[in-house]
Amino acid sequence: RKAELAQWVNRPTVSSDGHRIELAANIGKLEDVQKALDYGAEGIGLFRTEFLYMGRSELPSEEEQFNSYKYVLEKMAGKPVVIRTLDIGGDKELPYMELPKEINPFLGQRALRLCLERQDVFRAQLRALLRASRYGNLKIMFPMIAVLDELLEAKRILEEEKQKLVASGVEVSSSIEVGMMIEVPSAAISADIFAKEVDFFSIGTNDLIQYTMAADRMNETVSYLYQPCHPSILRLIRNVIDAARQEGKWVGICGEMAGDLTAIPLLLGLGVHELSMSAGSILPARELIGKLSRTEWETLSKQALSMRGQTEVLSFVQEHQ
Ligand code: PEP
Ligand code: MG
Repeated sequence: RKAELAQWVNRPTVSSDGHRIELAANIGKLEDVQKALDYGAEGIGLFRTEFLYMGRSELPSEEEQFNSYKYVLEKMAGKPVVIRTLDIGGDKELPYMELPKEINPFLGQRALRLCLERQDVFRAQLRALLRASRYGNLKIMFPMIAVLDELLEAKRILEEEKQKLVASGVEVSSSIEVGMMIEVPSAAISADIFAKEVDFFSIGTNDLIQYTMAADRMNETVSYLYQPCHPSILRLIRNVIDAARQEGKWVGICGEMAGDLTAIPLLLGLGVHELSMSAGSILPARELIGKLSRTEWETLSKQALSMRGQTEVLSFVQEHQ
């Protein structure tokens, strides 16, 4: 089986009717980059930078971050690398950063909400990213955006840091794409508004499902509500992809759902451009997509959108695979 999959390592990902999609890897640690390449990743679709901040006793310096981002960009040698700004809070704590005690941390000051408050931390990360940008194909992504003002403020701060660096003679790439995660239902619903202000979306289904179903992603007792292929989730994904298309922007998916072989035919049919997953899932996904007709799944996915629940969707997918 391993040898069988290995033949897919250096191939593009193409559906049986000739549509190309990109399969990228999610990474957290620097060691993951080599693994991503070994497993045939066409890019990094999500670098969870919080791992640079965790398991230590102080904030990583701008210099240290610069070196990490430069390493990943160089190693990927021109392939796209989506780096997400700090997503701390929620379940992820930093002992050296005084975070407020909250009753509902997942609904509290996490990710970009915290970064807009702690701008010293945010700006240092953005400077490190901008300085590293000339070493590869960098795309910067903001997490947990709920309303347009958050995005505009994050973009304003990024632009400000960029201007300062350029004014001081630092070389910054002129082709950095700026995107946002879609993981809060409000952003999925209003995707048409956001699409005008970004270069790309990446749908974080782990959180999008949690917030849409109002079911804690860590809580076993409500895990039956964690339904990636529920029509309500598929409808949100459809809305995001259609909105992006209208503006000529691309959409990736970087939650667990992206590597789920049952969900992939539906995501292909909905017209997703990129799927980012743990490295180990890439080759099975590429092999599967090679057998699927996107045109056929366009029709099938539309049918799935109006089904009564996930059970119905899952047996439908199985029947047609
Ligand atoms: C997600 O929410 O789907 C996601 C990719 O981000 P994380 O799992 O890091 O919250
Ligand atoms: Mg998330």
